[in-house]
Formats: sequence, C-alpha cells, structure tokens
Amino acid sequence: MAVPKSKITRSKRNMRRAHHALVASAHNECPNCGELKRPHHVCAACGYYDSREVVEIESA
Ligand SMILES: [Zn+2]
Repeated sequence: MAVPKSKITRSKRNMRRAHHALVASAHNECPNCGELKRPHHVCAACGYYDSREVVEIESA
C-alpha cells in the first residue's frame, strides 16, 4: 500500500479543501408560468422552452 512520506500540514490540507464548497444550482424564473427552472432546460412545470410548448405536461 502506498504510504505518505510526510505529514500534510493543516495549511496544505485546508488549501486542498478550499475547493470543496457546495454551490447552489442555477435557476431562473420561467417566462411562461413563473416557476423556477434550470437555464437552457425545458420548464418542468409547463413544458415550455423558447416561448413555445415543446413537451406536453400530463394532468395539468
Ligand atoms: Zn413554465
């Protein structure tokens, strides 16, 4: 098994972990129904994309 040659300092460990923060997912308001949707994705609530219906939503 590979064994580390020397101890990782608190500084180096924390520098590595500086990139571990979670980021909130991007979301915009749907111009058709106002629901939050992901940018560049069809709206899950109304099925609209680029101001036209692309997907029919069952049980509206
Ligand atoms: Zn919508």
